[in-house]
Amino acid sequence: MTIVDTPERRQLRELTRAFVTKEVLPYLDDWERAGEVPRSLHETAAKIGLLGIGFPESVGGSGGDLLDSILVTEEAIRSGGSSGLIAALFTHGIALPHMVASRDDGLIDRYVRPTLAGTMIGALAITEPDGGSDVAGIRTCARRDGDHYVVNGSKTYITSGVRSDFVTTAVCTDFPGSGSLSLLVIEKGTPGFTVGRRLEKLGWHCSDTAELSFVDVRVPVANRIGPEDTGFLAIMQQFATERLSLATQAYATAQRCVELATRWCRDRSTFGRPLASRQLVRHRLAEMHTRAEAARAYVHDVAERVAAGEPVVTEVAMAKNVAVAACDFVVDAALQLHGGFGYLRDAEVERHYRDARILGIGGGTTEIMNEIIAKGMGL
Ligand SMILES: Cc1cc2nc3c(=O)[nH]c(=O)nc-3n(C[C@H](O)[C@H](O)[C@H](O)COP(=O)(O)OP(=O)(O)OC[C@H]3O[C@@H](n4cnc5c(N)ncnc54)[C@H](O)[C@@H]3O)c2cc1C
Repeated sequence: MTIVDTPERRQLRELTRAFVTKEVLPYLDDWERAGEVPRSLHETAAKIGLLGIGFPESVGGSGGDLLDSILVTEEAIRSGGSSGLIAALFTHGIALPHMVASRDDGLIDRYVRPTLAGTMIGALAITEPDGGSDVAGIRTCARRDGDHYVVNGSKTYITSGVRSDFVTTAVCTDFPGSGSLSLLVIEKGTPGFTVGRRLEKLGWHCSDTAELSFVDVRVPVANRIGPEDTGFLAIMQQFATERLSLATQAYATAQRCVELATRWCRDRSTFGRPLASRQLVRHRLAEMHTRAEAARAYVHDVAERVAAGEPVVTEVAMAKNVAVAACDFVVDAALQLHGGFGYLRDAEVERHYRDARILGIGGGTTEIMNEIIAKGMGL
């Protein structure tokens, strides 16, 4: 393993595995059908210190760094959880970091602490119906009016948007599309802020996704994160964590699918012999394992560099693309090795196959990662 293993990290893995086994696996199918995970899950995860991993104790977190968050994500999926579960339960991983970085005690007390205690749910709203890749082109606008902003616009595909109590919202504080962005925390229940329909999706069924609408929503200036017009930089700075989380979800899903397919191929016999006895099948499993492990090693390497403060924007983009490519290959091969059973809802591999498809879209698409990589190459 590339991330340094310590007794604390072994304990964290055990804690995560025990949590998923006891609190998630018996109910995950029900949550997939319900379209969301219950609020009580956040409280349970907070009580045992899992929700706050990666956030300092000074803001209500459990301590640990990016590498510890990665271990939690990895272990949760390898224990039979899913990337959809991570998206739903750990949405605060994208909703809170800008507030924590701003060191604004008011925002930290009102939103960060209760969220890490599992009593509030937050979301991050950047994407708009007109486009998500072009962050600078955001059209939702906030006009200053005394000690308030008046917000108009809409957001879409927002993870946990249905359940969230507040939304860290990217708004334009100049004319639409000007690129001068700020982040505002907008509370559910503020007049003019409505949550549209729950969006139905290919995968991530246990993670609710919403459209949000803002019509003359008055938001106190005190809910702005950091100085005006620093939103674009804040978003870009936090993208590294989100992208590495998605990369982790990708390689961990791949690892889990290698395990599921290996077990299946040992147990399943065709033409009088176990599938795993065929060279073609063994080589397919070997290739799946190799790609998953290579992705894991590279993501860990880049995460270590991010945690050490190195400016590795290009490498983060490469890590996401490498892990997503490994995952896409593995989930497809794993489902194929399961034959007809792999296509059924009863098969865990079926869920991973559907859930995996978003990983090359969310947090910046594979094409946008390639743009970043090309720029890093001086192209
Ligand atoms: C399940 C789910 C959860 C999500 N959760 C959140 C969330 O919590 N918060 C949030 O803000 N957003 C969220 N998103 C939105 C997600 O981040 C966007 O979908 C993503 O960034 C892509 O934006 P878009 O869908 O508008 O595609 P577009 O930007 O319209 O792109 C469409 C296609 O064109 C390609 N493309 C775009 N520009 C270029 C270019 N210059 N060169 C080459 N190709 C290009 C893209 O790669 C893509 O393939 C979520 C989406 C989904 C589906």
